[in-house]
Amino acid sequence: MSKIKNYKIQEIKNGYGDQAYWRSVVLPNVPKKYHKHPKQCIEVLQKRWRMLTVRLKRAGYGPIQRPIIFCQNCPPVGVRIDQFSRPCKLQKICPFCWGRRYTFKVWDKLLPVMFPGSNKLSVGGNVLTYFHQTNYGSLATALRMLSSGGGEITLLRNRGVEVRGAFNLSYIRPLEDNKSYYLWSGGIALTGHYKNELNGVAHCGYQPHVRKADLPDMFAKAMPYPTSTFKAEPGRLIAALDATEGKRALNFYGSLR
Ligand SMILES: [Zn+2]
Repeated sequence: MSKIKNYKIQEIKNGYGDQAYWRSVVLPNVPKKYHKHPKQCIEVLQKRWRMLTVRLKRAGYGPIQRPIIFCQNCPPVGVRIDQFSRPCKLQKICPFCWGRRYTFKVWDKLLPVMFPGSNKLSVGGNVLTYFHQTNYGSLATALRMLSSGGGEITLLRNRGVEVRGAFNLSYIRPLEDNKSYYLWSGGIALTGHYKNELNGVAHCGYQPHVRKADLPDMFAKAMPYPTSTFKAEPGRLIAALDATEGKRALNFYGSLR
């Protein structure tokens, strides 16, 4: 019979990619009093994840019905630990697999394109970071909006902006008001000349070049792990997950493919 693993954290990783993970996933989901104690941050996040698996299993979420211990023992990210364990691969909800399948996947694609060699400033296009959250009264409407057209990237192209490369992350989650759902969409695009074409559509930051040290904060803006995952009523979270089952949350375009 498998047991809950008590991982010992041997090292806190602190590369820029790790910082992107800490800022977009770990810190927003851990109370501020722990923020100066990274090991405790990971322990708190792991505890939240383990509790969430129990709530989701009780509510009948299919992917958790396999031995729940396998999901609960999913190895933490952003740290080095003392034991090997297999990832649970529930990246849409597991904060550790989110890091492996989303944060680091994007990071590993962006870096060689934006910072080849020992470049100090980014290349490959001007840098547009964008994100927006729209609330909808029903899951069906949110789903329809998610499925219609390629979102901001298509819009940029339709408006004549040259998109050389981009990634986009989209997801639907319940709002805490127990009724509505929201659709999140965010990413970074490497573009030709941009003249506020997304004004009124999304929050945007635009710069000709950025430094590598700027990227972690841009990740935190564009692709945050949804804090609502831990707070939502399980049945509504499952409804959102089931509705988007088989839909890819993360997409790459052009030079980032
Ligand atoms: Zn996992």
